[in-house]
Amino acid sequence: MTGHLEVRRRLSEAARTGRLPQVLLVTGPTGIGKQRLALWLAQLVLCLHTDPEPCGHCRSCRLVAGLAHADLHWFVPVLRSKATDPGKQVEEVAEALAAVMEERRTKPHYPPPDGMAVHPIAVVRLLQQRASLTSVEGGRRIFIVGEAERLVPQESSQEAANALLKLLEEPPSGALFVLTAVDARRLLPTMRSRAVPVRLNRLSDGEVAEFLRQELDPALSAGEVEARVARAAGSIGQALSAGEESDKTYRAADQLLEAIMQGPGPTLERALKQTPWSARGEFTAMLDALADTLGEAARESLGQPTRRPVVPSALRRRSDPAPLLRAMEHVAEAREAAWGNVNPQILLAVLGQDLAEAL
Ligand SMILES: [Zn+2]
Repeated sequence: MTGHLEVRRRLSEAARTGRLPQVLLVTGPTGIGKQRLALWLAQLVLCLHTDPEPCGHCRSCRLVAGLAHADLHWFVPVLRSKATDPGKQVEEVAEALAAVMEERRTKPHYPPPDGMAVHPIAVVRLLQQRASLTSVEGGRRIFIVGEAERLVPQESSQEAANALLKLLEEPPSGALFVLTAVDARRLLPTMRSRAVPVRLNRLSDGEVAEFLRQELDPALSAGEVEARVARAAGSIGQALSAGEESDKTYRAADQLLEAIMQGPGPTLERALKQTPWSARGEFTAMLDALADTLGEAARESLGQPTRRPVVPSALRRRSDPAPLLRAMEHVAEAREAAWGNVNPQILLAVLGQDLAEAL
C-alpha cells in the first residue's frame, strides 16, 4: 500500500476503538489506490494481530493479499451478461468476477476495467445473496464495490436500487461495505447519504516514483521513471498505463477521429484501413481510447476538468455534449460487437460512418 498515511492512521484508530463505520465511500482521482485502500482495510480488520497496520504475514493477511479470503467479496465492473434469465445472470456475473480475481492474483498491477464494463443488476442480487450468509472464518465480512458509479441499478431498476439501499442502510452485523468512486456526485444521493465519506488525494511524486522503482519488473530506467512520474499527476494508475503502448493506442484513436471529422476522402479511407487490427485486444483498446477521448471532449464541452487534453481539434471546445455522447453510444455498440466474431475492419468502417453522422 503506497501513501495515504493520514487516512490509514485515522481508519486504523477507528477500527481499534470500535468506531469504524459499516459503510464507507472512498473517493478520489483515478489510479491513486482507492480499491487498494479498501483491500488494506480488509486486511486490517481481518488481521489476526491488532497492530495499527495489518501485519502482512498472518494467515488472514496472506489470504486477503492472495484475494482468497472467504469473507472478502470484491465486486468490480464486468461486461454485461448475455443471459436473460435472472438466475443465470447472477451465475454469469459470479463467473466473470471469479475470472477477474484469478487474473488479478497473477497480475497485481491490473489495468483499469474495460470502458464498457458495469456492475449489472445481477451484481446487486449476488451482493444480497452473499451478504445474507454468515462469516466463513468467524470474523468480519468485507464487501468492496469498486467504481460504484458504474452500478447499473442506479438508473435502470428501482427494485435493485432499493435492495442495495436497504443493504447499506441496515448492513448485516459484522459486515463492512467499502464503495469507491472517482466522483461521489455520480452516485444516487440516497446511496451517498448512507456512506461515510473518505477522501483520498493524489499521491506525491516521490511516492509514485518509489512505487515504480520498487514494483516494476523489469525495472524502468531512471529517465523513464522520471518521465512517467511527470505525466502521472500523483496517480500510480496513470504512471502504470502511461507506457508506449497506451500512447500508440490513443494516437491511433486521435488520427481516426481527425480523419472522420475531415469527411469522406482518401484520408478517411487510409485511416480505416491503416492498421491491421490482428489482435482483438489491441482493437478493443483502440475503441476504449476512442470512447475515452469522446468522453473527455464531452466533459470539456460541459466546462468540467479533463484528465488528458483533447487532441482532435474539431472536438475541442464544443458547446453541445449531445453529439459526443451519441458518438460514445456508437463506440459502445461497436465495443460489444467486437467481442463477437466480427471482422474488425468491417466493424470500423461501419463505426466510422456512424461517428461521422453523429459528430
Ligand atoms: Zn495479519
